[in-house]
Amino acid sequence: MASIEMRNIVKKYGDGFPAVNDVSMDIADGEFMILVGPSGCGKSTLLRMIVGLEDITSGDMVIGGNRVNDKAPRERNLSMVFQNYALYPHLSVFENIAFPLRLAKAPEDEVKRKVTEASDVLELGEHLDRKPANLSGGQRQRVAMGRAIVRDADAFLFDEPLSNLDAKLRGQMRTEISRLQRRLGITTVYVTHDQTEAMTLGDRVCVLRKGVIQQVASPRELYEQPVNLFVAGFIGSPPMNFLPATVSGATLQTPFGPIELDATRAEQVAGRELVLVGIRPEYFEDASLVDGAKRDLGTTFTAKVDVTEWLGDSQYAYIPYEAPPEVDAQLKELSRELDSDQLRTQAIVSIDSTSRIREGREAEFWLDARKIHVFDPESGQNLT
Ligand code: ATP
Repeated sequence: MASIEMRNIVKKYGDGFPAVNDVSMDIADGEFMILVGPSGCGKSTLLRMIVGLEDITSGDMVIGGNRVNDKAPRERNLSMVFQNYALYPHLSVFENIAFPLRLAKAPEDEVKRKVTEASDVLELGEHLDRKPANLSGGQRQRVAMGRAIVRDADAFLFDEPLSNLDAKLRGQMRTEISRLQRRLGITTVYVTHDQTEAMTLGDRVCVLRKGVIQQVASPRELYEQPVNLFVAGFIGSPPMNFLPATVSGATLQTPFGPIELDATRAEQVAGRELVLVGIRPEYFEDASLVDGAKRDLGTTFTAKVDVTEWLGDSQYAYIPYEAPPEVDAQLKELSRELDSDQLRTQAIVSIDSTSRIREGREAEFWLDARKIHVFDPESGQNLT
């Protein structure tokens, strides 16, 4: 197994804007690292440079302590699992898994032993004689992983391996990949644009935007301490709300009324006029369900509810508001990138399923003022 170190990696296709722009990152031996970001952010390009399918324009790629920039893919001992699985249709499951061992001219008893071990782990034992066409999507995925396992590779690289599967199977495969990775303890780099996959699979997640690393952190840290608007908006579903607010002393004046800041946050926003307040949907509650002591720790406000969605264990309420022109352009750009137009037109609040709020009526909401984030609308940096 091996660690993967990237030092100031740049990739330019032709004379264009760099697809990967000065990326430096250390992936520890045995670590499960996720590369995530919207379409075109450079995650596949980065993965392809690790595996050797793409030249590196500048910077160093170091795998297991060795610089591999000039090494061919087959000299890197990495196993890549592609989106389309790249299985051989005319070969059985056994021979598909055995393929790398056949190439290496491994003796028959070793082939048998390794394929059996891998198919046991992947629960493919009873399908070894079948052809890929007679397997489900999930089973094909496992065959592709089996082929990666038998190679004793230094690392696994996955490029959106679950994107062809339906939602249920994707959930199952996610659990399987996670379990398998832990069992094998093999260094893994996994590309996805799906933030749920990113949050549930990895030890750490690297969020990319336009070829630049925004933040590398554990899923929990990304969720609780996003460094900027982009990460805050990308991670979490439904997304964080960004309410424009003017600062006056320790008070933020938002479209829903004033929010009083504690001393620490007041200091963090001192001297600013306009900010964006980041509030996750679950930081809200129906005020009538919040008891007195807790109420005092937050802010209450009244707003008209546009639409409600009942989810069983909770419900969402959509509260429209208008972003002022000063921040509209910034939020528009962010909405476009994150493919979420609601960022600038309505807040989503997640409240208890027992709440009696009604569509089209005013309701009193409570907001946990201790949890809010405050962002600089221009740089997007999280100030809190
Ligand atoms: P997606 O999720 O859509 O696959 P991605 O995050 O994996 O996107 P890349 O495929 O790495 O992004 O592409 C990053 C940028 O580089 C994009 O702007 C893309 O258009 C460009 N790009 C990728 N491959 C090439 C190529 N072979 N030639 C020219 N430009 C390319």
